[in-house]
Amino acid sequence: MLQNLSRIVAQDKNFLGIINGRRVAATNGKTIPVVCPSDGLEFATVPSYDAIDVDRAVDAARQAFEEGPWSRMPAFERGRLLTRLGLLIEKHGDELAALEARDTGKPIRQGKADVAATIRYYEFYGGAADKIHGDTIPFLDGYTALTLREPHGVVAGITPWNYPMQIMARVVGAALAMGNTLVIKPAEDASLSTIRIGELAIEAGFPDGVLNIITGYGSEAGAALSAHPGVDYVTFTGSPATGTAIQQAAAAHNRGVTMELGGKSPQIVFADADIEKAFPVLVNAIIQNGGQTCSAGSRILIERPIYDKVADALGSRFRELVAGPHDADLDLGPMINAAQKRRVENYVTAAAEAGIEVIARGSIHIDAPLTGFYVAPVLFGAVDPSATLAQEEVFGPVLSLFAFEDEADAIRMANGTEYGLVAGVWTKDGARQHRVAKRVRAGQVYVNAYGAGGGVELPFGGFKRSGHGREKGFEALYDMSATKTIVFRHD
Ligand code: NAD
Repeated sequence: MLQNLSRIVAQDKNFLGIINGRRVAATNGKTIPVVCPSDGLEFATVPSYDAIDVDRAVDAARQAFEEGPWSRMPAFERGRLLTRLGLLIEKHGDELAALEARDTGKPIRQGKADVAATIRYYEFYGGAADKIHGDTIPFLDGYTALTLREPHGVVAGITPWNYPMQIMARVVGAALAMGNTLVIKPAEDASLSTIRIGELAIEAGFPDGVLNIITGYGSEAGAALSAHPGVDYVTFTGSPATGTAIQQAAAAHNRGVTMELGGKSPQIVFADADIEKAFPVLVNAIIQNGGQTCSAGSRILIERPIYDKVADALGSRFRELVAGPHDADLDLGPMINAAQKRRVENYVTAAAEAGIEVIARGSIHIDAPLTGFYVAPVLFGAVDPSATLAQEEVFGPVLSLFAFEDEADAIRMANGTEYGLVAGVWTKDGARQHRVAKRVRAGQVYVNAYGAGGGVELPFGGFKRSGHGREKGFEALYDMSATKTIVFRHD
């Protein structure tokens, strides 16, 4: 019997966004219902801001950037504020993990892992704020030339629903460390942790207007924000189609953008790999967060001689996997909403109808509410690399296996999609590790390991359709700033 379904957050409430340091309702009075994916029931609301409130938020961010204390604050003090926010997040960690789990449906242990990573982001960028230096450049006789790293100004951050708290943290950490001000628009399906952390930022002492939180629909608040002439830089994580729309809007004002647009990430398993070590990592890479992860390892390429053995073992594990409500903390939770559940089911049905072999299916817990958005995990085998299932991002618990003949074949298959976000290489052969890691087109390559969310120090972003620009690590600080060159003549 499943216990405590949706009872973890003690007080249901109507949340408000934050403009200029104040919690405010939408000027139009409209709200968006907040639905728990585990039972499909509404338990809160968030404001549905439109262009009017986006204007107010961008104006507040502009004023804080140009005139407020933020514009004169030394880098180490900006860093201290980020560190203080991290400590407040740690203090409220259980509450935030429960809120994120209920809002997104993710198992509570994933909510806790997200809180731990979020704290690390604020710790990392709090410490990094005063460690980005410019250069001095040897120039002509009688001159001294130097560079400064300067903030862009007002940054817009548009974030998705899969890891709201973590993705907010990498945007806030890098943008504010470099001295920008921010307007963040979380996804309409999962805004609560962003709002709550915005409240904690007020408590931490960030000056008014530095961090504004605008909730609302992508087609209204998101579109108004990305097209706003007062925004100097846009950072976005989400689908390629929305990324294209946001880049077109930003192009009208020639603004810079960072785009993190998902993937179809391969893990290449050679016959000499340590399968015992690889096995739990291969499973987790697609099951974590119900497969709703941009870096999900959704394709496993297996060298022909061990294909049957690996497929059998994965099949046995997939038959044991169980989806259920977030607070039951099973292998995976529900999909974020009914549309995403349908989308994943459509991919599964179409692939099965196209004759692709279903090796195994997991299950949905018998006590899971029928009104929740559950999908049982599915393992497909012997997939043709040109199949839709092999090419498109499903964003659900659907894993495809492929057989390859040799190293060249594996690299061709790994690079054979429009995406290039993350890749895994499993082999004991050291020379091959280096060769393959260099030839795979992906922003991150793991050798005898796999993962992306964990390493806040590790630059992250895509090649090809997976996007451009880099988040995380020190690289994000370069994306969130521009070089200014100053030349002194003193002859
Ligand atoms: P999305 O790209 O539509 O939404 C992401 C964010 O963009 C949200 O905040 C949304 O409100 C906003 N947005 C939507 N339309 C906008 C517009 N015209 N202008 C400005 N902002 C806009 O993604 P989704 O609908 O949440 O999910 C759809 C698919 O996107 C998923 O199935 C998955 O394939 C992919 N996705 C990828 C990631 C990732 O991390 N790469 C994350 C979430 C979703």
